[in-house]
Amino acid sequence: MTTFVDRVELHVAAGNGGHGCASVHREKFKPLGGPDGGNGGRGGDVILVVDQDVTTLLDYHHTPHRKATNGKGGAGGNRTGSEGQDLVLPVPDGTVVLDKDGNLLADLVGQGTTFVAGQGGRGGLGNAALASARRKAPGFALLGEPGKARDIVLELKTVADVALVGYPSAGKSSLISVLSAAKPKIADYPFTTLVPNLGVVTAGEVVYTIADVPGLIPGASQGRGLGLEFLRHVERCSVLVHILDTATLESDRDPVTDLDVIEAELAEYGGLGDRPRIVVLNKIDVPDGKDLADIIRPELEARGYQVFEVSAVSRLGLRELSFALAKIVAETRAAKPAQESTRVVIRPVAVDDAGFTVTEEDGSYRVRGEKPERWVRQTDFSNDEAVGYLADRLSRLGVEERLVKAGAQAGDEIIIGEEENAVVFDWEPTMAAGAEMLGRRGEDHRFDPPRPAVNRRRDKSDKDDAQQEFDDFEAF
Ligand code: GDP
Ligand code: MG
Repeated sequence: MTTFVDRVELHVAAGNGGHGCASVHREKFKPLGGPDGGNGGRGGDVILVVDQDVTTLLDYHHTPHRKATNGKGGAGGNRTGSEGQDLVLPVPDGTVVLDKDGNLLADLVGQGTTFVAGQGGRGGLGNAALASARRKAPGFALLGEPGKARDIVLELKTVADVALVGYPSAGKSSLISVLSAAKPKIADYPFTTLVPNLGVVTAGEVVYTIADVPGLIPGASQGRGLGLEFLRHVERCSVLVHILDTATLESDRDPVTDLDVIEAELAEYGGLGDRPRIVVLNKIDVPDGKDLADIIRPELEARGYQVFEVSAVSRLGLRELSFALAKIVAETRAAKPAQESTRVVIRPVAVDDAGFTVTEEDGSYRVRGEKPERWVRQTDFSNDEAVGYLADRLSRLGVEERLVKAGAQAGDEIIIGEEENAVVFDWEPTMAAGAEMLGRRGEDHRFDPPRPAVNRRRDKSDKDDAQQEFDDFEAF
């Protein structure tokens, strides 16, 4: 049995940034021509985009792991690694994005609305970009950052174009199953359908979704049954369809009274008064049903309803019905382009870029902050010079100063980052006057002076973030 998937857990992984390259230019008679290692390329983002042609989350149910491509590593000769490709995931209009704990990240409404679910890792700077007047020939490069991986939950607050309302067993689920490819649960007795079934109908050029509002019974507005719960799923529908049972075995019911009762519940719920309605008389395959349909049709038409006689079982009248619904849906869509053209770009909440915190935890000191944690990820710990560069960066940001203030002493354990990704050091303070006198990292007077900054970045008119961050840092 295929059920409609309106909630799916998705595991997205953005692409890793490519590593920067440490390389030294070589030419005949000029063995040490200066650093020429290029930057790594940025990893691809994972981006959710509302696409009106997508109507369910079914795809993600089948393949919940999605990854964007990695950036390539930089190379010698100042070659920048190519960027990873963004992975664009189309989602239905009305998809809500939550984190694992149920916190709302984005509510995606309107064609083209995007949400960056995972940001690609920055490419690492190559040693050419790391060179400066102070550090003429860095013998290291920065690592590319891993892409953001995370688990998100997609929920589709069903944006049904067509909502079927009616008594239990009127044939709503049956009709959805014969009008569309969806196969909802069908049963003879009330309350079996506990999730709103959704079907996708194609009629000519128009593709629309059709949803069932199960459990809408007399007294629903007072909390009986589950109808109200499900009405919420169809609040944005274009048209309400009354499914009336012309062959009910319950002697105290007749289709017109059924309609009045359901209308009373809808009125009680409120907010749907402006939606057009049509009436479907179902079960005309039953002889008594057909007779009853003929009797009540004039009354319903006199009330202004467009009336369709169908049978979900023998599939009578379905084509007329689906095209009539398509027409209304298409008209409604055409009538509200202004609202749908609004492009809201919702991005993940920005993390505080500048700050960091130092906290004492049982004699250890934990450093948390966007920059220190990123710098740690960019560091190749097998290269002493790279580690020294990290120490310089941390010290310049003021991390060491704060550690001193917090009471840290040489030899204490310093933890940078959160639990799973933390890096632990034994602290050797590099700050204070002594550090500067030891000589500067990366200086080697055998090298040519570094070329001007413009040359180093000749291949990029738009600086990437890593470069920008590097510039900010150098501006200290
Ligand atoms: P829902 O509660 O409105 O979703 O109704 P269902 O689709 O579950 O149908 C209830 C019962 O009515 C099932 O036993 C169906 O087989 C039956 N039914 C639905 N449509 C028709 C129809 O057109 N003709 C006949 N004879 N039975 C139908
Ligand atoms: Mg049903």
